[in-house]
Parts: sequence; C-alpha cells; structure tokens
Amino acid sequence: MKLKFIYLLCFVCALSAKAQNYINPMDIPMTLSASFAELRPNHFHGGLDISTPSIGTPVKSVADGYVSRIKVSPYGYGYGLYITHYDGHTTVYGHLSEYAPKIDSVIRKEQYRLQSFDVDYFPDETLLPVKKGEVVAYSGNTGGSLGPHLHLEVRDTKTEDPLNPLAFLASQVADHRAPTVYGIKAYALDDTSAVNEKYYELKAIENKTIDAYGHIGFGVNSVDFFDVGGRPCGLVEIFLYDNDKLVFQARLDRVPFDKTRYINSFVDFAEVQRDNRYIQKSFIDPNNKLNIYKVCEPIIVKHGEIHRIRYELKDFAGNTKKVSFYVRGVKDGGYEPRIRRGERLSWDKDYNISACGISVTFPCGTFYKDEYMEIAKSDSNVFKRPLYTVGSREIPVHDHITLTLPLPDDYKKMLADSLLKPKQIFIARTGKKNSIGYVGGTINGDYITVNPRILGDFLVAIDTVPPRVVTKNTVTLLSQNNNVMVGISDNLSGIEKYNCYIDGVWKIFEYDYKNNRLISPVKKLGIKSGAHTLVARIEDASGNVTEWEWKFRVR
Ligand SMILES: [Zn+2]
Repeated sequence: MKLKFIYLLCFVCALSAKAQNYINPMDIPMTLSASFAELRPNHFHGGLDISTPSIGTPVKSVADGYVSRIKVSPYGYGYGLYITHYDGHTTVYGHLSEYAPKIDSVIRKEQYRLQSFDVDYFPDETLLPVKKGEVVAYSGNTGGSLGPHLHLEVRDTKTEDPLNPLAFLASQVADHRAPTVYGIKAYALDDTSAVNEKYYELKAIENKTIDAYGHIGFGVNSVDFFDVGGRPCGLVEIFLYDNDKLVFQARLDRVPFDKTRYINSFVDFAEVQRDNRYIQKSFIDPNNKLNIYKVCEPIIVKHGEIHRIRYELKDFAGNTKKVSFYVRGVKDGGYEPRIRRGERLSWDKDYNISACGISVTFPCGTFYKDEYMEIAKSDSNVFKRPLYTVGSREIPVHDHITLTLPLPDDYKKMLADSLLKPKQIFIARTGKKNSIGYVGGTINGDYITVNPRILGDFLVAIDTVPPRVVTKNTVTLLSQNNNVMVGISDNLSGIEKYNCYIDGVWKIFEYDYKNNRLISPVKKLGIKSGAHTLVARIEDASGNVTEWEWKFRVR
C-alpha cells in the first residue's frame, strides 16, 4: 500500500515536471474555446482549441524536437504540423494559415512533386529540427475550423494516443469554475424495467423524485467553463452514487483514435441527432469498447424503495459539481410505452436482410446494443422516387453496413442508352427540409450498393450537373500582393478533384471549401510580370467536369 502511494506521487511529480517543460505556443494569454475529449460528432476532441484574435499569430514549438509530419488537406486540420519531441511525445498544430519558410519550402516541393494540394508528408528526423520557442507556423482557420484558433494536441509518440495537453500546460489556463449541469435523463435498461425516458432540465429534477422500476440507468447533460473564454467545454470525470455507493465512474483522459467513434455509445445518439444535445450515459452498452470506465454497477430499483442518486462531475482542475435527486420504486407507474418499430436485432449476430426489394447486411458488432430495425418502402411525393427506410437516423452504427437498392427503371434505360454514366447514379440519404445528402454507391447489374455508417431514409438519385465556377473576376490586372481566386460550387455529390494550371503548368491552389474557392497568392505562383492564362479543372464525385479559363496580367 505504502509503495503504491509513493509510486503515485512520483507519477504526479513526473507529469508536473513535464508541464514546466512545455511553453505556451503563442505569445498571447491562453484562452480555450474547446477542451480535450470534448464531445463532438463521431469523435472526442483530440486536443485543445486555443483562441486567437485573428489569423497570423506566430505559433512556436512547445519544446525541442523535429518536424515529423506535415499534412495539408482542405478538411480536418487544414494545414497541420506534427513535431516529435525527445520526451516520448508529439505535438500537433492544426488549422494553420501558413508554415514557417523552411517548412513551407519543403512541403511546396512535395506538393509540386505530387501535383496535389493534399499531401501527407513524413520528413526524415534530420531534415527539419526545431528549437523550443522557434516559430514554426502562423495560426489560421483552415480545414474543418469554424473560426480562427489553434488546435493543439499532445500525443504519445509510440501509440499516437492523444493526451490531455492541460497535463503539460495546466499552469497556463485558470479554472476555478465547477462544471455546469443542464439536465438529466433516465433509461429503462431491460424489458422488465420501466421509467419515463424523458429529459429533465436541472431545475425539474434536482432534489425532486421520479418514479421508476427495475434496472435503471441515467445520463447527464453537463459541460465545463474555464475562468475566461465563455464557450462550453468538456468534463474530465463523472461519478454516480446510488445511496452513497459509487456505482459508476468514467474518466476521459485517454481515448485512442481507433476507439473515438464509440462516443456514439457514450452519449445518447438519438438526442444528438434530434436536438444536438450531448447526454453522457452512465451505463455501458454491451458493445461499447471505450476504456474510460472505472466502475459500472447496476442500479436496481425495487417496488417501494427510495434511492438517493447523486452525480459528481469534475473538470481537469478538480472543481466538482454535485447534483442529487430521488428515485421511487413504483411497479405499475403508468409509464409511457416505448415505441418500437421492426424486428429486434442482437448486437452480437450477423444479419443479412432482404425485404421491400432491398438488401441490408449488418455485420456482428454494427450496433452497440440490441436495436429494433424497421425496413420499409414508401413513395415520396417530394423526391418522386421510392424511399427506403432502414432503421432511423437516430440509431448509431459503429461499422459499415452494406446497403443494396434496385435502380429505378428510367435510370436503367438512360444507362442502357448511354444517357447516364454509372458514376452519375448514387445513393442519397434524406435530411432536414427535404434535402438529400450524397452517400455514394457502385452499380452492379440492376442494383446499386454502398457501405454507409449511417441509417435513415435512402433513395437512388443522379448528379449530371458539373461544378460551377461562380467567380466574377472583373479585375484582370493583379500585383504580386493580390490573390488569384476561383469561386466554385457543386450541388449533390460535391467537389472531389481540382487542378489549376497557369500557362499550362500545374500550380498549388488551396481549396478553401468553407468559402467555396480555390486560392493562391500571386507571389507564391512564381510568375513574372505580363499576360497569363489560368485554367481551372474541377470534377465532382459523380465524374462531372468543368474547365474554366481566365486571362489576367501581373503588374
Ligand atoms: Zn480542435
């Protein structure tokens, strides 16, 4: 026992020693707009989001090391930079606007070699060494970023598991505020148990009593705020007590990337789809493989019993919020019946279902728990096509399913008459306000097959419209300080390939999807004064191509 205690103390010392080693990557006070393991669609947030006043703030390496990876993509981290340090950790800097010149010249060479804006490059250890405090990049808003900020990760170099950067930088961020609880939801966890599975705002449940019977689970909608920042961030630890006995404990300190999708089982997925509400469940679905759970014991409520249930929610600084309520055991409480459509599928079996002219394969482990699965066909007045229901968009699936739909007769005829190319036909899922979202698909005879990780209402659709160039470039005389821009857009299948040539030579143009444009500063194009011709070639996922030519002059 004593030995164990000493070991733990040393571990804490080791962590805080490292904390002093890492510097704030920017010369501005560290304000966080997102925390580690914050709840996001299909993943836990892998790092910290550090607010910046605008783009272009110098970003420094937090310690000595070398650039081990440079990843450029229109999506994800946009311009991303990975620095491997000598303490077993790698730091990742995301959504950058620009790299420092020595890194920029390496990656541009690689982009030209591959003739691609998207690159994922792993430099040799000796190529780009960096010193602690050296400016390696400038902050930005590239990739899947919704406002200027720096995304900072600390990973275990060997496993690549993301760690909480606050363990290395805690002294930089003040947090004296306990987490905030918005509400709580109760769940009946088997067929003989009952409770009204509704969401209670905090004031409607705190210190109040709800009726339930049998095996009951709870979920909590809670966030944390730092002293400065004002944006809701994530919790670090959840404790649940049943009459003062600890029955559930989860700690969000290490979620490997290959397990991050299990967030769809950690939270109430249906509530996320319906109301964008992230209720963290305090019970474990049978096929949930997250390694965050320390304790999980059932709460069994018998008729006539009163249980005092208490949540304790902790942030990284250890600030704790407590919420209590009571559960009264009532066997026949007039509970609202649960609505279930379709057949019950076991999470640990394979299914290959043919019904309503379609076939669906659910491999074992697709679901986190047993699910009721409705397969149905209906005629849609909106889409003028048969609509195929496969479960509902509120049911999470972990792995890819296989979905095969029949081709409508008119598309079959157009294919036979070469009026349609196979790539122009795809499976779509319906969304809000009669929208459809591209899913994809491959044609095989009279059928089309796709492997989505979503459920809902599907139909077969076509995309025959090429991307559009929407630029109105009236100014055709540019200086070296201007940008060359091509405004582009595509309906349905979305832009997949984009290439720009100046005077017949391929040039790096950034695809800025949020602003629907291809863009490059004139000075980075390496072109001289005089007349030039730009050709942009843009292709959507259905193979429709647009080629656009523009003549301009450089002063
Ligand atoms: Zn982020």
